[in-house]
Parts: sequence; structure tokens; C-alpha cells
Amino acid sequence: MTKNILVMPGDGIGPEIVAEAVKVLEAVKQTFSLDISTDEALVGGSAYDVHGDPLPEVSLEKARAADAILFGSIGGPKWDAIERDKRPERGLLRLRSSLNLFANLRPAILFPQLASASSLKPEIVSGLDILIVRELTGGIYFGQPRGIREENGERVGFNTDVYSESEIRRIGRVAFELAMVRGKKLLSVDKANVLEVTELWKEVITSMAAEYPEVQLSHMYVDNAAMQLVRAPKQFDVIVTGNLFGDILSDEAAMLTGSIGMLPSASLDENRKGLYEPCHGSAPDIAGQGIANPLATILSLSMLLRYSLERADVADAIEKAVERVLEDGLRTADIWTDGCRKVGTAEMGDAVVAALKS
Ligand code: NAD
Repeated sequence: MTKNILVMPGDGIGPEIVAEAVKVLEAVKQTFSLDISTDEALVGGSAYDVHGDPLPEVSLEKARAADAILFGSIGGPKWDAIERDKRPERGLLRLRSSLNLFANLRPAILFPQLASASSLKPEIVSGLDILIVRELTGGIYFGQPRGIREENGERVGFNTDVYSESEIRRIGRVAFELAMVRGKKLLSVDKANVLEVTELWKEVITSMAAEYPEVQLSHMYVDNAAMQLVRAPKQFDVIVTGNLFGDILSDEAAMLTGSIGMLPSASLDENRKGLYEPCHGSAPDIAGQGIANPLATILSLSMLLRYSLERADVADAIEKAVERVLEDGLRTADIWTDGCRKVGTAEMGDAVVAALKS
């Protein structure tokens, strides 16, 4: 059956890096005889410029109909001053919530060839491969009541951290299943000694362990997890946590790798339909110069093939091709070091395609 991928390049460097991922997609379609059709839609500032809306109905409809979405990046100074509801970021938030993309997958992988890019010692991070599974549509970012009110003559700000058993079970299932196809180790992060909401979190995750006897489940308080991530990050395989802790820990883990231009991400719904995008933004400072690193987007495509299209073989081939190109010493400016060959966005994409075909 034909699978439909919607391509949403977005703003800034988005169109440049997505074009390279599309080259790679065309190459694997040929090599692996994949039955995939693609369509394209506007999102973010570029959609606002045409439709007055960062997520016009026509784009949302296409996103609903697709099996997976390959997303570039959105935003830029051009749209910073427009009314809040029409800003590019709102388009992405609406897209995530309209498609119920509750599971955010953020791998932190450090290719050995780039170990020197990390601020940590190479032996601590070289070969790092962890996956953070963050709950994306619940918790304190969405809980009610929330606001700022007057109390005893001063303003008081408040938010509500709330998770139902079913929400915890839903994200827990994604994490256990991912642990099963990876290193079979799952760490659940909470603050159960202080917060009741995470006491329930820990209880529900623990109750699920019997369904996955092969997975070694452990628990850690968030403060300890933050420390362990910089002390000995390779001890982890899959980490599952709520929205707030996940936001912070996934950025910390991302930074272990030293290069934002290398990091892909996925946001999935219950049926594994997903939106795949690089972790970085639209990099307006380098947009249009042809120097952006397309590898995070190419690796996002590889996640798309692995998780939504269930083609781990194709995903492995793309990841191997990326590694090969790094091994050959090709680097975009953001990851360039002495002795390597500096290449632009298109040359990097072409090199990955060539490595795939060889
Ligand atoms: P950014 O990630 O765009 O850029 C941070 C720095 O990293 C910049 O110096 C940039 O040049 C560099 N960089 C980022 N991606 C790169 C790549 N692929 N290759 C080489 N260098 C790269 O973050 P920012 O500057 O804080 O935000 C810029 C815009 O992006 C803002 O409008 C912000 O709202 C938006 N943004 C969008 C997303 C998204 O689309 N999901 C995420 C974060 C930020």
C-alpha cells in the first residue's frame, strides 16, 4: 500500500535542509523499491505570508491525511512582531495538538567521529546512544487551573501538574516498546519524593513492567538524572518522563552531543503516525547561505522510516551512510574541525546519497 509523506519545509533554513532529506528519500525509494508518495504544504511564517495563518486549513488537512510528516523548521525575526496567535510557533503547536502527537522521541546520538564536538571528555560521550521519551501533550504545560491572580495585595502565579493513569500508561507503553527494540533498559524519571503527580507516574509505570519482562526498569529522581546525564550518560538506554522534566532533560542530553545540527526528533500519536523534525530552529542567521547542516533532517527522515513506516532496514542504511560521510571527513561549518573538509548543505546531502548508493 502506498505510504504518503507530507513535506513541510517551513522557514529560514527549513527549505534548504528539507531539500537534502528529500534527495535521500528519493534515493532510498529507488534502492529499496519503496511505494511512497510525497506532497508538500506550507507551515509557519511562509504559510502566514500566503494565507494569513501559520497552519492554514489546507495544510492541516494534508497533515491529517498523511502517514507521516517531514518537517523543517519555522520562525524568524520577520514574524516576531505579529499578533501572538498568528506567530509561526503557534502553527507547530496547533499541528502537534490537532494530530494528538503525545510522544516526543529525542535521541541523543554522538557519532564517534564527532566526539570532540562535545564539551564532555570523548571517553564519556563517544558512541553515546540514548533515547528520551517525553510526554508532550499533558502535565504542567497544559494543566488547569493556571494563571496569575491577586492575593493579599500581591500577584501570585500558579500552574497545575496533572497526569491521569491512562495518560501515563499511554506514554509508558511507547517507552517500553521502544526499549524492547533497543537495549531493553528503561529509566523512568520522577520526583516522587515530593510531587504526588509523579508518585502516581512511578506507580503506573512500575505496574506495567510485568507486561515487558525482558525490559530492565529502573527509576530515578529528576535531580539525580540531570547529574547522571553529565557524569555517565552511557549508562542509559531509553528514558521516559513527563512534559516538564522531559523538556529540560532532552535539551541537556542534546547538548552532550555538542552539535544541534545533528539531532533529529519525532512526535508520535497512538498509531505511530508521526511528525519528524530536526531539534534545531530555523537558524535565520545562516538562512539562504547554503551552509546549514542537513544531517539532523536526514536523520529525522531515518526516524520516520523506522517508526512510522516500520522500515528499520532503510533507516539503518541511512544512518550508516551518514556515518560513512563523517568517516570520510566531510563536515558542514557547524561541526567542522581542523583536518576535515568543509562542505555546504547540498554537497553534504549529495555525499549521503552517494554513500547510500555505493
Ligand atoms: P536555532 O536552533 O535556529 O539556532 C541556534 C544556533 O544554531 C544559530 O547560530 C544557528 O545558526 C545554529 N544552527 C541551528 N541549526 C543549524 C544547522 N542545521 N546547521 C548549522 N547551524 C545551525 O535557534 P534560535 O536562533 O533560538 O531560533 C531561531 C528561530 O527558530 C526562532 O524564530 C525560533 O522561534 C525558531 N525555532 C523553531 C523551532 C522549530 O521549528 N521546531 C525550534 C526552535 C526554534
